[in-house]
Formats: sequence, C-alpha cells, structure tokens
Amino acid sequence: MDNRLMEWIEASNNIVFFGGAGTSTESEIPDFRSQKGLYSCKYGDYSPETILSHSFFIRHPDVFYKFCREKIFFIDAKPNKTHLALAKLEKEGRLSAVITQNIDGLHQLGGSINVLELHGTIHKNYCMNCGKSYDLAYVAEPGNAVPICKACGGIVRPDIVLYEEALDMKVFQAAAEHIRDADLLIVGGTSLVVYPAAGLVSEFIGGKLVLINKQATPCDEKADLVIHESIGYTLEHAVFGGKENETG
Ligand code: ZN
Repeated sequence: MDNRLMEWIEASNNIVFFGGAGTSTESEIPDFRSQKGLYSCKYGDYSPETILSHSFFIRHPDVFYKFCREKIFFIDAKPNKTHLALAKLEKEGRLSAVITQNIDGLHQLGGSINVLELHGTIHKNYCMNCGKSYDLAYVAEPGNAVPICKACGGIVRPDIVLYEEALDMKVFQAAAEHIRDADLLIVGGTSLVVYPAAGLVSEFIGGKLVLINKQATPCDEKADLVIHESIGYTLEHAVFGGKENETG
C-alpha cells in the first residue's frame, strides 16, 4: 500500500474524519440501505426507508420497533479497527472530530470523545410526552413491543433522525465548521450519495482530502487520494502497523 495517508496523518494536527455505514460493517452491523429486500409484516411489505420514517413510526410503532430490534439495535456490537484508530489519533491531538452518519455509538465505545452524530444515536431514547430519558437496553427489550414511559405512559422513541425529519442544525453546523477548519479530511465508508454527506464534503477548503470506500463515489475526482479498500485495513496500516510494513 502506498504510504501517503500515513505521512499526511503524521504531518497533521487537525484531522477530521467523516464516516458512514462502511465504518460499522466491519463490526458486523449491516448497512440497512444495502439490504434490497422488503420487510414483511402483518401490515404488508415495506422498504427500510418507509419503516424508518416519521409517519410510519407514528402509525405502526410496533412494526418500527420489531424492525429496529432485528436490524438496527445491535446491543453487543464492538468497535473495530477503524474506531480504535480514530480514537488513538484524537488522544494524540491529531484529530479534532469524528463526524458520523451512523447511529450505533461505536465511536464512543472505541474511545472517541468529540463525535458529531448527524443522524442521532440508538443509545439515547426519550418519552415523546414528558421527555424522560431511556437507554438502549430499555427499548431493545424483546418483550417490550412498544416501549412505554414508566413516568407518564407516553411512547418512548429513539433519538435518531427518521426519514421525513430534519437534521439537528446545531450538530450539522458544528460538523461543517470542523470540516472547514481541517487540514486533512478523511472520508470513509460512505457512498456520499445520501444527504447531507456530499454537501458536507464540499465545505472542505484546505489541505488534503482522502476518500476510503470500497466503491467509487461522486467525489472521487475531487480527492487528493482515493483508496478503494477496506477502511479498517487501511486505517490500521496508516495509524498502527504501517512502519514495519514499509518498503520505502
Ligand atoms: Zn413520559
């Protein structure tokens, strides 16, 4: 593998990482968008995008939660090499923020502190009536068809951004600011076709842009370095194990 990424990481003290589903697939969390099949239930056949929409959640919270428990609530998932490498870079003072489209909380489990979750997190849940907070274990409980607030009987929902819902603009603005200030932007595991991913990358104005994704993305032409390879493998090489493999 060529060593440019490693060299740029070593020369930088303001790296920003922006990642998507591909960051988590190596923790065996499937990308629900890549599951082409429909989800069948007693109400009919639905796409994941339909089930994870605001109006569907309001109409069929039981189906919504059944889907989430099978496809989204991975309570035992462990951080992988990507998460650990990024946490190490933050600890060393090289990385200022991780921006993620994922909702699995694995960056924090891997040790990252400054994580901007554009689509929220499954680890935070709240009562839609009184606002009381609940953890993932409470809503992931299989017997708990639709989780109900213990304080007021309201429906508890995950603090994730559903289809038809707006992003949290405070998180989005903070992400854009980090990207504008960065001297090295590493984009990984995202096809950059889902809003607002491509827009955020276009905020980047200085330094090096590195794209790591198994497939080509619409931004490949703008990047200083494109790596069509596993992101865990790539970052492990660049952050942990590069030196002994160096061939000059
Ligand atoms: Zn409540």
